[in-house]
Amino acid sequence: MPLPTHVTAEGDRPVLVLDDIHKIYNPGPLQVHVLKGISLAVERGDYVAIMGHSGSGKSTMLNILGCLDVPSSGKYLIDGVDVAQLTEAELADVRNQFLGFVFQSFNLVRRTSALANVELPLVYAGVAKSERRRRAITALGLVGLEDGRLNAAGRTIVIITHEDDVAAHAKRVITLADGRVASDHRKAPVAGEPPRLIDLTALEDDEVAAS
Ligand code: ADP
Ligand code: MG
Repeated sequence: MPLPTHVTAEGDRPVLVLDDIHKIYNPGPLQVHVLKGISLAVERGDYVAIMGHSGSGKSTMLNILGCLDVPSSGKYLIDGVDVAQLTEAELADVRNQFLGFVFQSFNLVRRTSALANVELPLVYAGVAKSERRRRAITALGLVGLEDGRLNAAGRTIVIITHEDDVAAHAKRVITLADGRVASDHRKAPVAGEPPRLIDLTALEDDEVAAS
């Protein structure tokens, strides 16, 4: 099934918009209010790192960005289209054609689309520290180099990470705290190269293990 034509329209509008997103797990007496009004717009071609302490709501936001979960309230627009208005079939198309994921195992699942130059490799973090570090270095290879080239080619990237080294590649760094945007810093213009590319070959194995 083709995407609705308005999904494919080109323009200057942000490719992703979160508008006052709340997420409440287990609504009722034992409810957990995790996202407390997240509003942000991501421009086409940007490279955004989402950071924040464990429990700040990164994974919850990631699941919503990836259309794997829905907000309790608020709107999520992809290319101007309210995701809540899409049928299951259209949503499946969006997941398949617009969104790419890097899961914890870092098996990159990439789909490309002639309809849009949008891709969202998303990093799940939160494993043990030493392993996390090692995997983060692996992720650098993916998001910093391989996907750095993707970004240079105009793809939009949102990564979620604990790692400063990963965030160092990003053009914009957003920090979550207790379900809210605590800071939002632009480090490089949307148009142009990511700010820093690490030469992985310069990293010795013991440097990786020692960190
Ligand atoms: P982060 O990825 O930043 O560590 P999460 O989004 O995983 O944060 O979790 C944020 C908060 O939401 C945590 O307090 C977590 O325990 C809680 N939480 C996450 N998923 C669920 C769920 N399915 N049911 C209830 N609480 C949840
Ligand atoms: Mg998490």
